Amino acid sequence: MVSTNEPIQIFFFPFVGGGHQIPMIDTARVFASHGSISTIITTPSNSIHFKNLITRDQQNGLNITIHTLTLPHNSVDIIDMFSGPMTDTSNLLEPLKQLLLLQQPDCIVVDMFHRWAGEVMDDLGIKMIVFTGNGCFPRCVHENIRKHVQLENISSDYEPFIVPNLPDRIEMTKSQLPIFLRDHSVFPDRLKAFKQLEEKSFGTIINSFYDLEPAYADYVRKELGQKAWIVGPVSLCNRSKEDKTERGKVSTIDEKSCLNWLNSKKANSVLYVSFGSLASLPHEQLKEIAYGLEASDHSFIWVVGKTFNSSKIEESGSANFLLDGFEERMKENEKGLIIRDWAPQLLILEHVAVGGFLTHCGWNSTLEAVSSGVPMITWPLSAEQFSNEKLVTDVLKVGVQVGSKEWVFWNAETEWKGTVGRKNVELAVKKLMGKSEEAEKMRTRVKEIARKARIAVEEGGTSYAEVDALIEELKAHRVALKA
Ligand code: UDP
Repeated sequence: MVSTNEPIQIFFFPFVGGGHQIPMIDTARVFASHGSISTIITTPSNSIHFKNLITRDQQNGLNITIHTLTLPHNSVDIIDMFSGPMTDTSNLLEPLKQLLLLQQPDCIVVDMFHRWAGEVMDDLGIKMIVFTGNGCFPRCVHENIRKHVQLENISSDYEPFIVPNLPDRIEMTKSQLPIFLRDHSVFPDRLKAFKQLEEKSFGTIINSFYDLEPAYADYVRKELGQKAWIVGPVSLCNRSKEDKTERGKVSTIDEKSCLNWLNSKKANSVLYVSFGSLASLPHEQLKEIAYGLEASDHSFIWVVGKTFNSSKIEESGSANFLLDGFEERMKENEKGLIIRDWAPQLLILEHVAVGGFLTHCGWNSTLEAVSSGVPMITWPLSAEQFSNEKLVTDVLKVGVQVGSKEWVFWNAETEWKGTVGRKNVELAVKKLMGKSEEAEKMRTRVKEIARKARIAVEEGGTSYAEVDALIEELKAHRVALKA
């Protein structure tokens, strides 16, 4: 192991793809910018997505590297930006173990979806920190439902109940809860493994910032008893245009065309529409969105990711599922820009022309919206997104709900039942993008949150201090080991 005077060495072991990989890469970069040595552990095919980003960091003097694991013979590198939370990554167990034995870092940050990782740590005695990818608020909501709500006593899926013991009055319905909260027989082994990983860890890193959800940050520590370092928004470490354009994946649209289109629009006039890296929507739902957007008469950028049709997930580019002539019409009258596959989300959100974000409320998208000062139309689908919606609309009051009521799986295997009609879309867009006093207030509130987000990550800010605090704690641990 390195001497006590040398920088702390932290390994970051992100999940493979999308909404979990992206913030962990940023977190590794943040820690490197605070003087630690960051090593990102990944597979060959995944490293392609962030190699350029890390090379630029190295050129800028950061001590950060990528280590690609050599996969066992006959083992497939399945993994890409669209792999889901249930993707089995246990073929990485042995190569990871070998690497840790050889290098003995001070600490490893592990994504919770590598649910088998606890087994490796047992043998090696290396400090482990868990990364769950979500914020403080959704943790508090889920934990309190799990502990204190007898869901079987609630007769209807649509009957609202109050989540007990929270700082705010939060109402949910059973239909909005993840299947594993509603039915304990679903994924019991996986949930047990997640729990064990948490128990074996020395704490958790949260991508949020104190001033966004102070009551819930306190709640996580005091009431849930979790040791947590709140270090975000980590997306703010992306300062150059290149970093923003290539984040996660190289964008399907080139930066210039995207910016030129936005530059031609008035301030706050464009709605950005995206459902994240994972969700696939059926064609019938996409049509409702298209009709709704057109009827709202506001300009938009719509990222159409994966879609599904007859239980088959397909690339959005491969099918012409939109209304007859819709795309051409939008192009002709310059109302809408449709991006297939991957958009430079940070670049778009930070543009002055963007005045709203229709989002599925993934935690990263939510945080990126508030950090860019953009109010939201909330359209949760899966994971903890319905809780995130409540934070946005009921606690922070910086968004309007589209009226999504049904928690669904992120993939096409299960039956889609959450179609939201065009009228809902049209009304929500008009409400957020119109010139009402309510919309103005939301805009003012979210700009203030964005200001606080920037302060949090600068020297003197809370998140900045928490990164340093974790580094100091690891140093103290190293000293104790040597004593
Ligand atoms: N993202 C992006 N371009 C896209 C789609 C997604 O850059 O076209 C990024 C987005 O900025 C965010 C992440 O992918 O950082 C999505 O994470 P989120 O938690 O919002 O949703 P998930 O993909 O996990 O459902």
